[in-house]
Amino acid sequence: MANLSQKYIDLAKAKNPGEPEFIQTVEEVLTSIEPVLEAHPEYIKAGLIERLIEPERGVSFRVPWVDDAGNVQVNRGYRFQFSSALGPYKGGIRFAPNVYPGILKFLGFEQIFKNALTGLPIGGGKGGSDFDPNGKSDAEVMRFCQSFVTELYRHIGPNVDVPAGDLGVGGREIGYMMGQYKRLTGQFDGTWTGKGTKNGGLAGRTEATGYGIVFFAREVLKHCGEELAGKTVVISGFGNVAWGTACKLEQLGAKLIAFSGPDGYILDETGITGEKVAYMLELRGSGKNICAPYAEKFPEAKFIPGEKPWGVKADLYIPCAMQNDIRLEHAKQLVANGCKFLIEGANMPTTNEAIEYLQANGVVVGPAKAANAGGVACSCLEMAQNAEHLIWNEEDVYAQLEGIMVRIHQLAADACERYNLGYNLVAGANIAGFERVAEAMMCQGIV
Ligand code: GLU
Repeated sequence: MANLSQKYIDLAKAKNPGEPEFIQTVEEVLTSIEPVLEAHPEYIKAGLIERLIEPERGVSFRVPWVDDAGNVQVNRGYRFQFSSALGPYKGGIRFAPNVYPGILKFLGFEQIFKNALTGLPIGGGKGGSDFDPNGKSDAEVMRFCQSFVTELYRHIGPNVDVPAGDLGVGGREIGYMMGQYKRLTGQFDGTWTGKGTKNGGLAGRTEATGYGIVFFAREVLKHCGEELAGKTVVISGFGNVAWGTACKLEQLGAKLIAFSGPDGYILDETGITGEKVAYMLELRGSGKNICAPYAEKFPEAKFIPGEKPWGVKADLYIPCAMQNDIRLEHAKQLVANGCKFLIEGANMPTTNEAIEYLQANGVVVGPAKAANAGGVACSCLEMAQNAEHLIWNEEDVYAQLEGIMVRIHQLAADACERYNLGYNLVAGANIAGFERVAEAMMCQGIV
């Protein structure tokens, strides 16, 4: 039975050549749900895994637009609707030059289990384009978003598929996309989440992912008999997730000492708090040089150009940048530093090899599917707010978010315990998410 999942991994490899990111996550999820498959032969018989690794639908389309100089530009747009077992497809839109099906399918597949873990009624999907918003004018971004939605609108809807933001897509882009969607359909509905609060969005959605990550980290530490307050923390990234994480770390009394950007990393042992976090937010819009201007403004900080921050000694590490940020060599550095806790803020920031090495060396890894689920959970609250035609207040959102994160941690911890896997949250999150999706799929017949 040990090779139950290998057959499906081989199938995914054969059917998705040249998409290593997708294979990486399929491998990670399927290997860890092996004990569930062994306990449930009816899942195998129902072809559940073959169906899960094949998106229900994927669309690819041309996105033509005109730049400020009057030149015609053509990008490629996509939406992968992976699973509607638990509700409408739900997941972000990513704009980045390296976007291709392998990246969107890894994100879409992960999203199924992440969304299931929230306990809310949302399926999984992901979309995006190889459009690079960096260096584009506001008018160019608007024209691109309008063209993107002119094709995408026919595939989405409040009970069909509800996109949100991801890398390169924030409140501005969502605003332009929902504006065009409204113009084409004549509907002001809950089809888009991550909208600004002036525009039907949910108070607290912007910081929800980062806040949720820190609540999750607090639960992990508590489980291990430790406290978040007073801990030193290193994060990577400088975007929305990193910013929300920095804010909540400060509120809960932890000390953030390093963050990174495309130009290197900042080490600020006096603590990155208050106006420094606000300055990180300001730099976010500027794209390239993040650390150099920070070090200029705050001379107590050290700027280490061209390096990742994983050599810095700290109590807790939270990668918030992007996929495969921590490879085996970084995992070795972390273990040599005495790292005990790594909580994934970004989606799949750690390679499978690196996770194995960290866990084998006693590091508790909090997987992204669980740790960063607060973002999509609040997106689902935004769907509820829009469907109710009401406006929720921030305090209610924060309170619900905290409850959801505590529950996710409990679900993952219980699942690994049930299968005698110790406190292995990577397996626990995959198992708990998978169980919910599998149970729903079994009710719905072979579809
Ligand atoms: N892109 C985010 C994620 O990775 C948010 C998705 C959403 O809110 O739908 O979970």
